[in-house]
Amino acid sequence: MNVSDSEVVVSILEKEGYTLTEDQAEADLIFVNTCSIRDHAEKRVRNRMQEFKHLKTKKSNLKIGVLGCMAERLKTTLLEEEKFVDMVVGPDAYRDLPKLIKETESGRQMVNVELSLEETYADITPVRLDKNGVSGFISIMRGCDNYCAYCVVPYTRGHERSRDPKSILAEAQDMVAKGYKEVTLLGQNVNSFHWKEDGVEVGFADLMRMVAAVSPQLRVRFATSHPKDISDELIETIAKVPNICNSIHLPVQSGSSSCLKRMKRVYTREWYLNRIEKIKELIPDCGLSTDIICGFSGETEDEHKDTVSLMKQVSYDYAFMFKYSERPDTFAANKMPDDVPEDIKGQRLQEVIAIQQASSLKNNKNDIGKVFEVLVENVSKRSTEQMSGRTQQNKVMVFNRKDTKIGDYIKVKCMDCTAATLLGEIVE
Ligand code: SAH
Ligand code: SF4
Repeated sequence: MNVSDSEVVVSILEKEGYTLTEDQAEADLIFVNTCSIRDHAEKRVRNRMQEFKHLKTKKSNLKIGVLGCMAERLKTTLLEEEKFVDMVVGPDAYRDLPKLIKETESGRQMVNVELSLEETYADITPVRLDKNGVSGFISIMRGCDNYCAYCVVPYTRGHERSRDPKSILAEAQDMVAKGYKEVTLLGQNVNSFHWKEDGVEVGFADLMRMVAAVSPQLRVRFATSHPKDISDELIETIAKVPNICNSIHLPVQSGSSSCLKRMKRVYTREWYLNRIEKIKELIPDCGLSTDIICGFSGETEDEHKDTVSLMKQVSYDYAFMFKYSERPDTFAANKMPDDVPEDIKGQRLQEVIAIQQASSLKNNKNDIGKVFEVLVENVSKRSTEQMSGRTQQNKVMVFNRKDTKIGDYIKVKCMDCTAATLLGEIVE
């Protein structure tokens, strides 16, 4: 999401005559686009900022700006704590950047952290920052209204709002014209996408069908979906439309209904498992991934065991797993103690990681002998004779390149695997 936002920022600044450089020593302006989701993310930003501070001692006209969620969360405090920072700009204020930059020329520190109910940057064609020219993002909505107890996003990115589907389609068409083969529709909760104009309503399943119709050569993915909104219609749409990838990221967070209730996730273990069953029924080859939080406030050993058993039952292909990190001013921080000791959080995390490794390996072994459509994305890091791409299920496949090029769709038979990668041969 931050890459996608940075693409909007680059587009706004290029219109003002700025150009992007890969070399930070050459830059006159450095923006760090930040994440507040866990304390660890913020610590990394702080460390990185020390580098910029050092650069500024060598180049006095260098301007430094902090963008995104940390800017929104800390506001002017950030300017007080980090005196060398020139600008603090929240995620809805990027159109103001050219003006703010000018104001800093007089040496003033500038802040714009206003959140908006409307801003979707719909009319801004992002400057794509991906390296391969094959896969890109389209942001289809911003903000979040779910207020999960542990989560800072509703406070840092504001209320949920959907983007005009016409501008989304125009962006998809532009990507196809530029040779892109895959688009990921982005939002905190894409399946609650909703647009109404002249009495016509467009929901997320409609939007997916519309984007998929732009070109049969364009793969469509999405991230992230909330289990509460994963409707039968949406699952049927993914099942039916060939270029909507058979892959769903469905963050469960916990396998325990009581823990989910404290998290304010508004679904139960049973509801979630029912959705997974429906997915497996309608899309038997669907790639499944999730997010897990270990050691949320009050998490008991039994609740943790429920997470373990759910993970075993679903057998995800991939998972992002985290220790609970209390975020200031969230519901949990205000009302619930961060009472699972750090070492227990760590043990539980290690346990879920081990289970995930085993599931990934088991699922990948099941793929041996099967043939997959692969979109070629990169030359392999290990050998220029090999290339890699992804299957619809979002698994990485490595294979001997023969005469394939980046951006090709090819058929590859899986011959071997690790827990992280499939190894295959091109099928003639
Ligand atoms: N909107 C998405 C998730 C966005 S944040 C959704 O609801 O699924 C990405 C992931 O970060 C979350 O799914 C959650 O697993 C994790 N996360 C969010 N807040 C966290 C916190 N305070 N501590 C640890 N992990 C957190
Ligand atoms: Fe955070 Fe919940 Fe919104 Fe996801 S749905 S961004 S976890 S508040």
